[in-house]
Order: sequence, then structure tokens, then C-alpha cells
Amino acid sequence: MSAEVPVVPHNRMGVDYRAVPARKVIVPGGIIDAHTHTGDPAQTATFVDAASAYGISEIWTMCGLEHAAAVKERWPGKFHFIAVPAWKNAAATEEYITDWLRRLDAFWELGARLIKFHQAPGTKKRWGMAAAHPMIQRVAKHAHALGYHLMTHIGDPKAWFYGKGPYADGVMGTFAEQFELALPLVELFGDRVHLGAHMGGSLEDLDGLARRLEKFPNYVIDTSATKWIVRAVAEQSVEAVRDFIVGYQDRIVFGSDLVVGDKYDWDHYASRYWVHQKLWETDFRGESPITDPDAGKGFDPKSGTFDAAKADGTVRLAGVDLPVEVLMKLYRLNAEKWLPR
Ligand SMILES: [Zn+2]
Repeated sequence: MSAEVPVVPHNRMGVDYRAVPARKVIVPGGIIDAHTHTGDPAQTATFVDAASAYGISEIWTMCGLEHAAAVKERWPGKFHFIAVPAWKNAAATEEYITDWLRRLDAFWELGARLIKFHQAPGTKKRWGMAAAHPMIQRVAKHAHALGYHLMTHIGDPKAWFYGKGPYADGVMGTFAEQFELALPLVELFGDRVHLGAHMGGSLEDLDGLARRLEKFPNYVIDTSATKWIVRAVAEQSVEAVRDFIVGYQDRIVFGSDLVVGDKYDWDHYASRYWVHQKLWETDFRGESPITDPDAGKGFDPKSGTFDAAKADGTVRLAGVDLPVEVLMKLYRLNAEKWLPR
């Protein structure tokens, strides 16, 4: 680590993110990022510049409605919108739901064809509403009638359900129960595409994830949430992850989960793409440059236990080194095939 390089959360090791590493594949038309949260166009411009440097040409965004029209106008054809509510102040009130329904109609006019439901335990608790709640069902039925397809965030990192994790008390259900709890949404949209964010929230449970992919033929998952996904790969057999992705190579789309905001700079955005590139395209073994307080805790996803002897705090990055034809599908072809626009 060079003395001149300040330690920032997105760059513990002084990586020069401007020096984009050579790609294992050149994707005609560019890479599609299926999962981002852009916003204010001035801030989004920095993100777009970093994304372009890493070969990302087309972007799906959970941009708030307030900025969506301006983003669409400034970058014609680059962004596809995913309908989201006003996340702040979410509550099980008539006023909030009415506003959400209005946003669904407005997003539809802007070309959105996916509606996002956030079904993380923490979100469900904060909102006082889960999939089966009549107000969520009202929004879901309205969206389904309009013609929307489904996007979900179900669950959260497995380690959070064990040890001293925020969900270890079981109040919001176990890790394994999370997908079951979302079934009232999943089944309602049974005739549509279902995009499961963050590898369906289950990269730590490849068997369970495989069962769901078999059971629901329109279920597609994205690779987004850099820290979580990097950790989930490093905490288990990289070969098992590789076999899984090769096995389901037609059902996985690339996504970053980058969030645009005034506290982030070009390097922050680039860091996620840099790490994803190392993760999917190389057999790199070492440390991730992104700070991650959940990493190196000695967590074993299979048993759900923490091994103190293995808790060295190291933020491991283990590359999966996917074959070229699989990368082509993840980076573009699957998004073209599955994501409604
Ligand atoms: Zn996200």
C-alpha cells in the first residue's frame, strides 16, 4: 500500500481503478448491468462514466420517479426503469399505498416493465408489511394487471440469521423460510418473469437455489451486491459455485447494485465493476479492495456456524473464472432474453 493513497472504504489497497484490467471477453453491444439505483442526473453522470470505462452500455435502474424522466431524456436508450415506491417513510397507510400505485402508472408510461418488491427481513419489519399483507397484495395485483413482471429482494446474507446477526432471534423467520414467506408475490406473478436480486438471496445455499430454479421456470437471478456475493463465494467451495453457475448459465444476469449518491465518486463506482471483473473472469486468490465488516468472521454457510479459529478478518476475493460462453450469457445475452422492456 502506497503512503500517498488514503484508505477509503472502496479502496483498501490503493488499486488504480482508472487502469481497467483487460477483459476475458469482449461483449458485442457491451455489458448490461441489470441492477442499479441511479438518481439525480448530475450524480448519475459520474456513475455512467465509470460504468462506460468498464464496458457497461445498458443499465436497469431503480431510479426514483422524481429523476426518472430527466435520466431517460439525458441518456436515450441507456436506462431501463424498474418501478419502485418512495422508499423513505414507507408505511402501511392508505396515503403511502395510493402514492405507490400512482408511481406504478407513471413508471409504466416511462417504459418500466419490472416492479421491485423488497422482501428483506429488515425491510418487512420496518414497513410493517410483508408479501401477504393486503396492501402489498393490492399493489401487486395492480402491477400484475398493468402487465408488470416481478423483481424481488428476498432474504439477506445467511450469516445475519446466525450467531450475533440481526435476524438470529428468528422473529422474521429463518434464512430458509424467507422464500416461502414471499410466495404470495411469487405465485401471483407465476405467469411472468421473476428476477431475484442478489443471486436470489441464496448464493450461500446452492442446493436450495437450484431447487427454486427448477420449480419456477421463469425465475432468473442477478449477481448484484458486490460485498455479499464476493463473501458468499469465498466462504464456500469456489468449484461448487462455478459448477452451479455453469449449470444455470441461462438463468443468471449480471448486476452490480451500485447506488448513485453525492457521497460517492468515480472510484467508488469503478470499484464494484473492478471486483466483479476479478470475481467472474479470473482465478484470482487474494483480498478484495472493498472494505467489508462482515468478511473474515469464519462463517460456514453450510452449518450456519462461526469458527473463531478461522475469524481472521480477511476480506477474501476468490475468482470463479467462468468460461467465455458463460460470461457472454451473464453479461448480455440472458438480459436480452429475459428482461422485459
Ligand atoms: Zn439493489
